[in-house]
Amino acid sequence: GDLGPEQKGLVIAHFGVQIEVEACEGELKGQRIRCHLRANLPALVTGDYVVWRPGHQGDGVVVAQLPRHSELCRPDPRGQLKPVAANVDQILIVVAPLPEPHANLIDRYLVAAEHAGIRPLLVFNKADLVTEDNQASLEALLSVYQSLGYAVLSVSAQSRTGLDQLQQSLKGCISVFVGQSGVGKSSLVNQLLPEVQTPVGALSEFSGKGTHTTTTARLFHFPEGGDLIDSPGIREFALSHIDRQIVTEGFVEFRPWLGRCRFRDCQHQHEPGCALLGALAEGHIDPKRMESYRAIIHSLPVNTSY
Ligand code: GDP
Ligand code: ZN
Repeated sequence: GDLGPEQKGLVIAHFGVQIEVEACEGELKGQRIRCHLRANLPALVTGDYVVWRPGHQGDGVVVAQLPRHSELCRPDPRGQLKPVAANVDQILIVVAPLPEPHANLIDRYLVAAEHAGIRPLLVFNKADLVTEDNQASLEALLSVYQSLGYAVLSVSAQSRTGLDQLQQSLKGCISVFVGQSGVGKSSLVNQLLPEVQTPVGALSEFSGKGTHTTTTARLFHFPEGGDLIDSPGIREFALSHIDRQIVTEGFVEFRPWLGRCRFRDCQHQHEPGCALLGALAEGHIDPKRMESYRAIIHSLPVNTSY
């Protein structure tokens, strides 16, 4: 039948054959519309910009997907990498004094962020738990990342310190939270999104099957500006299906030395004339990062190509 004019929309969530689109322009700007998908569209994910047309019953039809500038991917049950969110600008890697932070895990998130071309921001939560005993080691850990040029923000979801600054860095972009369980991601999200924007009832009604909706990635607007895409799966986003070359290039401080080793297939372990080992010996590369690099390389499947 007759459809309204083509216009731009943003995918807020999707549920099988239906998706929830927010109008980006025109009379309907800001409204959420339940849309069907025109046949032969590529798979859409939360964060996608689309072209859609309004229907007659407050519904709509998505007719095209607009280009993505970034993708977050996770392996599906068959091991195939699948996008789970699009157009993410910033990955907030949350760490805390407790559970004790592991440099190796932070480095894995950083490699994944570098590979996806998405800016990482280290959010050091539970700053209220810093004591005389743990302060020096925490500062040493974080200073490694600061000296690599990564931004680090110290916050506390509990005492609300640093949250203003965090809100500032969320403005004007789409962010996701990642990090180990227990570091305070939910607490931070609850502080930053005080209103419940996802009435569970409405969601269930919308999709027709409530139990499936909780795992779906969803886009939220922060009241102070900026957007969040969140789901349990996205919070676990980390290295997956990544090869040696991607890991090597994901260590940003290695980049000036790459391609300078004597052997073209140098694995930077103990080869003579290895430029990375040379840089390490001269103090240009932090030994902890090199250790972490080796641990990640060792954890890769043996038959990885590079
Ligand atoms: P998630 O697993 O990363 O989502 O972590 P949660 O948000 O569930 O928090 C795990 C625990 O840490 C909870 O008991 C929180 O109350 C606590 N927590 C979160 N943020 C802070 C904080 O800033 N300071 C302190 N002391 N505890 C916090
Ligand atoms: Zn080398």
